[in-house]
Amino acid sequence: MVPAMSSISPFSRPGRFWRGNLHTHSNLSDGALSLDEVVNRYKAVGYDFMMLSDHFTHHFNYPIADTRHHRGNSFTTLLGAELHAPVTSAGEWWHIVAAGLPLDFAPVKKGETGPQIARRAVEAGAFVGIAHPAWSQLTIEDGRDLSFAHAVEIYNHGCAVECDRGEGFYLLDQMLNEGNRHLTAFATDDAHFKVPDHFGGWVQVKAESLDPDVLLQALKDGHYYSSQGPQFHDITVSGKEVEVTCSPVDTIALVCGISRTAVKTGRAITGTSLSLAKLEDGWLMEKTSPWFRVVIIDNAGKRAWSNPIWIDELR
Ligand SMILES: [Zn+2]
Ligand SMILES: [Zn+2]
Repeated sequence: MVPAMSSISPFSRPGRFWRGNLHTHSNLSDGALSLDEVVNRYKAVGYDFMMLSDHFTHHFNYPIADTRHHRGNSFTTLLGAELHAPVTSAGEWWHIVAAGLPLDFAPVKKGETGPQIARRAVEAGAFVGIAHPAWSQLTIEDGRDLSFAHAVEIYNHGCAVECDRGEGFYLLDQMLNEGNRHLTAFATDDAHFKVPDHFGGWVQVKAESLDPDVLLQALKDGHYYSSQGPQFHDITVSGKEVEVTCSPVDTIALVCGISRTAVKTGRAITGTSLSLAKLEDGWLMEKTSPWFRVVIIDNAGKRAWSNPIWIDELR
């Protein structure tokens, strides 16, 4: 009997998609604009939620932007920060996005390391993400030190615009290959509004309401995908067949933990079926991948990325 097609998370989840940005700065740290101006700009272009992630350092007196006065029926905010503490393999302080911090989250303690403050943020209830791996030149050893994070920032628009170091999948994919099943993939702006670094990468979170606590839980549970523009409508899996429906794109691809891919290309495609068998079928390979991701790319080169899908969890 052919198994029924079944949607995977987040598409199988109740509710609707809410567009949000989890990484942006105001002049509470090194951003160009005031807290209210930044939030209003995101609101004006149609975001459903955002978080200011000002640099949580002594230089700026450990700010956690209080944006609660912007919360309403059609827009909301999360509270958080970009945390910093010593030190990555490259010899710089860590950059760690923490969404859902209490306003009284304690400053960096004497001797506290990046992984330690990240752990403290997780214990305080935050969604914790490893920021801009390529910009920070993070190694797999750095990734191992923060493998308890919820997610890796796989696209940082500010880093992409300013210096072509916006990428993070090189680190996430290696961490997935080491069995970190809980990790998800989030895109952000990291806007400072000094260059055109805004509205370029975001998350689409599936949740039943635009409530900060509900959004935060959905992020922790991985009920989201990331985008620069294209939209996923559904991803269903039946046996080895993966069916993707989406806004018009030119490429729909499955990628995994080895170099095999399955791909459909064309013009303004809104869906296709791809076989996981393609990821197993090759030469110069000694293993297969237990996970895959879906990537879609439109005719302007803008992409959307699913979270990792673990094959043995599908049934
Ligand atoms: Zn940073
Ligand atoms: Zn930042």
